[in-house]
Amino acid sequence: MLGFGESSSSLPLVLTATLTSPLRSPETTYTGLRCRECGHPYEAAAHHVCSEVCFGPLEVVYDMERIKARVSRAAIEAGPLSIWRYRDFLPISSDPIDVGTGLTPLLRSKGLAQRLGLRHLYIKNDGVNVPTLSFKDRVVSVALTRARELGFTTVSCASTGNLANSTAAIAAHAGLKCCVFIPADLEAGKILGTLVYNPTVMAVQGNYDQVNRLCCEVANSHGWGFVNINLRPYYAEGSKTLAFEVAEQLGWRLPDHVVAPLASGSLYTKIRKGFREFVETGLVEEKPIRFSGAQAAGCSPIAQAFAQGQDFIAPVKPNTIAKSIAIGNPADGPYALDVARRSGGSITAVSDGEIVSAIKLLAETEGIFTETAGGTTIAVLKKLAESGQIASDETTVVYITGNGLKTTEAVSDAIGTPYQIDARLESFNRAWDQAQAHG
Ligand SMILES: *Cc1c(COP(=O)(O)O)cnc(C)c1O
Ligand SMILES: [Zn+2]
Repeated sequence: MLGFGESSSSLPLVLTATLTSPLRSPETTYTGLRCRECGHPYEAAAHHVCSEVCFGPLEVVYDMERIKARVSRAAIEAGPLSIWRYRDFLPISSDPIDVGTGLTPLLRSKGLAQRLGLRHLYIKNDGVNVPTLSFKDRVVSVALTRARELGFTTVSCASTGNLANSTAAIAAHAGLKCCVFIPADLEAGKILGTLVYNPTVMAVQGNYDQVNRLCCEVANSHGWGFVNINLRPYYAEGSKTLAFEVAEQLGWRLPDHVVAPLASGSLYTKIRKGFREFVETGLVEEKPIRFSGAQAAGCSPIAQAFAQGQDFIAPVKPNTIAKSIAIGNPADGPYALDVARRSGGSITAVSDGEIVSAIKLLAETEGIFTETAGGTTIAVLKKLAESGQIASDETTVVYITGNGLKTTEAVSDAIGTPYQIDARLESFNRAWDQAQAHG
């Protein structure tokens, strides 16, 4: 685990921005980047592919012994009420941009658990994350802190909606210039929830994969910090906090089974990495965890590869209401497949109809209004519970990653309408009788 990036002078320095602070200081716990495929080491700069050898994706390398020497349950419990209580596990070396992200509720489910016949079901609700009501606030808080350290003054992203909300909001807070790219056909709530922070918004005629391709060219030519492109290794680490919080909130133990949505597959694989790092540093006891993943049938390249027993991902053209997870060519797809297979989990697809029903099911049984990605995840949870793939006594955590108020058009035709009454008692009484008769 150790040693990469130690001899920095002999390594190529790939930087697209002026360096205003060290790549790492002596107090940091990360030591550099490394190719996930061939292991080739790189400096902790703004790059994300193995340009020297094999074009594989880069990831952050830590000195786990240094982390282990530094962390304890008590110190974490006494830390900030945000993701920054896990700062020693994150690739930053300066005071973080702290907008209060993280430490969202882990609810012990009653209503939904009973409906599905599960005895130990927990709901991690990132639909109430800060500042923009999705799990993306975690990855962006980390990526923009790193962007600032690396000297970027303009930040950007290729987004399916939530990432643009988060990047625009946190950039505004940090005083960074911001330009975001989205597919033009996003939900109104997602677009408004970006524009209000006054970034430059580019609505691209095309799907996410086309937006992403354009952004790779802009990243190369403009010297901007793209949170999910040239800053992707740092960005991805932010998702580990979804594992850290769950382990701490369960009383410093690991669950038996997790169910999470996949777009690029990054979040899903990093939840596993987070649990592993807690085991490696002695914060929790090791135990096997099954990882089950959720995709919408209208964009399910990873679920299809899983079903067909393939190791490669055949890209698809997205067509689903679950726009926030509609990535047809998922960067972390092969790694996600590996996590599902090696853990004894699965990756399952559900239809748009099932997604809408599941949004309503979660709302009616738990009082949680999630967006389409959450509907996808709950629909898969339901499928796995009903088919016996989740045992009733497994401690199961389901990840809700976004808020329903951003995707109201998904459910507007599937919910009731108010009774229209006059401001008179008999008008109310008549309507109430009708309501009772309808159950
Ligand atoms: C981005 C996103 C995800 C999944 O993202 P990955 O690319 O797989 O890390 C899940 N849910 C919501 C609501 C999202 O916005
Ligand atoms: Zn490589």
